[in-house]
Parts: sequence; C-alpha cells; structure tokens
Amino acid sequence: MKWFYTIGRIAGTEIKVHLTFVLFLGWWTLLGYRGGGPGGAITAALLLLALFACILLHEFGHILVARRFGVRTPDVILLPIGGVARLERIPDEPRQELLIAVGGPAVTTALALIFYLVLRLTGGDAGVDQLNPLAPFLNQLLVTNVWLLLFNLIPAFPMDGGRVLRALLASRLGLVRGTRVAATLGQALAVLGGLYGITAQQPFLILIAFFVFLGATAEAEAVETRAAGDGLQVSQMMVTNFRTIPIYATLADAVDLLLSGEQREFPVVDNNGRIEGILTRDNLIRGLSQLGPGGRVSEAMTPGVPVVQPALAFGEALERLRSSRLPALPVVDPAGALVGLLTTDNIADLLMVQRAGPDGRAAARARS
Ligand SMILES: [Zn+2]
Repeated sequence: MKWFYTIGRIAGTEIKVHLTFVLFLGWWTLLGYRGGGPGGAITAALLLLALFACILLHEFGHILVARRFGVRTPDVILLPIGGVARLERIPDEPRQELLIAVGGPAVTTALALIFYLVLRLTGGDAGVDQLNPLAPFLNQLLVTNVWLLLFNLIPAFPMDGGRVLRALLASRLGLVRGTRVAATLGQALAVLGGLYGITAQQPFLILIAFFVFLGATAEAEAVETRAAGDGLQVSQMMVTNFRTIPIYATLADAVDLLLSGEQREFPVVDNNGRIEGILTRDNLIRGLSQLGPGGRVSEAMTPGVPVVQPALAFGEALERLRSSRLPALPVVDPAGALVGLLTTDNIADLLMVQRAGPDGRAAARARS
C-alpha cells in the first residue's frame, strides 16, 4: 500500500500526490455527477484539478524563495487540505523564513486578483461570499483561492501564518523560544477549533484542528532537538559499543545477534570490515518471512546506506539520518574504518540527558 504517488518533477522538485487526494477527487466528481449528470462530473473534476494547479503554484511560490536562500526542496506533497513543500532545513535567519513563508500566499493573492479582474472585466460574478456550485467556473476558482489564502494565514503550524508568526517571534526571542511560543499558540487554536468543530458538528473542522495540533507539536520537537544538539558533533553522540554482522551470515545468525543484546540495527561488513549496508530489525523480520532463517544477510539488508563522519555537526547528521528514513547510520572515520553507529534511540537519550540541566549538558559534551 503506497500513500504517495509521484506524478512528475519540476525543476528538481518531485510532485507527490497523497492517496487521500485521489479519493477526494473521486468523491468530488461523484458529487458533481449527482448534481448535474456527466456534465456536472466533468466540471467538478476540472474545478478540482484547476485548484490543484493553483495550490501547486502556491507551493512553488515558497520553493522559489527557498531556492534563493540556498534551501533545497526535495518534494511537494498534495493533500486534500492543501500542499506541503518540504524544505531540507529551516533557514537560520528568521527574515529568510519569513520571506519563504510569505512566498506562497503572495502567489495565491496574485492568482485571486487575476481571477477577480477577469471576472470584473467580463461582467461575471466576482462575489466571494460563498462557494456556489452553479456559479461560473472562474468564480468558484476565485472563491476557493480566497479560502486557501485565509486558511493559510491562520497563525498556527503547519500553515504559512504559523511560520510567519514563528519568524517574527524568533527574531526577538531566538528560534527555540520563538517556536515554543508559536507552537503553544497553534495548539491552543487547534483545541479551540476542535471544540468548536465538535459543538457545531463540523467533522472537517475537527480533522483540520487535529492536523494543526500534530503540526505544532512536531515543529516544536524538531527545533528543540536541533537546539539541544547545537555545538555537538557525531563523535559525542554515537554508539561506540556495538556489534557488526558479516555480509555472508545467515538470517538465523542475525536473529541470535538481535536476541543476545539491546542492539536493533547492525552494520553489515565485508571480509575487510568495510561497510556494505545496514540490517535493521524491519529488514530482518521481512527477510525471515520472505527467505526463511537460511536466507542471507546480503539479501535482506538495506544496501548502500549513507555514512557520516565523526566530526560532522549534529544538525547536519540529524538531517542525514532523517532523510535516509533509517533508524541508524554507520559512522566511518576519514580512513574508512567503522567507528560508531548513529541511532535515533541514542539521540533521544542524549536529548533527555541534555534536558536534565547543565550537568547533563556538560557530561554529554565531555564525550569525544
Ligand atoms: Zn503555503
């Protein structure tokens, strides 16, 4: 079961569509068919696809500004509630984040203005008070874009308004405190919105409130994690006491190794101790069900994993671990020797130590 479908690539950014968006398109088309037969179905589908194009343009508003500041944007995901352009990192300069956050709404404002002017000049209905399925196509597009704009200006993550607010707060309070305040405000808004959704029996509003709450929590955690590791490097937070597994070993050997200790991910090495890949617990379970205990580690492992250097800064190492979508990465010194394992579990432990106060910080930094 895949949740995302890549439908294309524009200027190095992959365009992905979430499965729920496809289902939403089907549902919307069916509503159009019920209201107006085959013609209604086509109009409904075309409207949603046109809106999809507007959302994509909005996201490219963010992407173009991000590129100017050297922030890479690997993909854009389209969901029924809007689009998300993934940024590889948050710029350190609050002013840059502010401009990136404003880039999308600026495009949407421009689109809405164009639709409005065309409607006015052609004598069409340029009212934006409600979405009328019988109104001209362009009017419906105008109304949905105005909604999109207003929705995005709500000052809560993951909406653009939340990023604008964080950037403004961060320029005074710093990134961590600014994010904490913005996230708390976003969570409060989400709870209020959710309660209103329950009393007004608006399931869609409850769903949005839920997403907003999760978005605020995730954003605050991501920033706190980065801040806690600020100034640390990989050698200070890697696991140095670990086992490796030879590439020619069987999965039965791997099971022995897994059950004999706490380690969950094993670097896979060749005869010369060179890294060939990593065997995660998921790899092992899948390998066992497909190949049986006699299967080879080489067939079950994740090959060609990125490695990190001991001197790499925490923030960058964290990005690499995240973008690899693996629970652990091998740490390899400049001579090519495997010296450690960078794991998400260990990073979580490190953060707990750091939060314990100045003594915890000092203890973590004393490692080298
Ligand atoms: Zn946006």
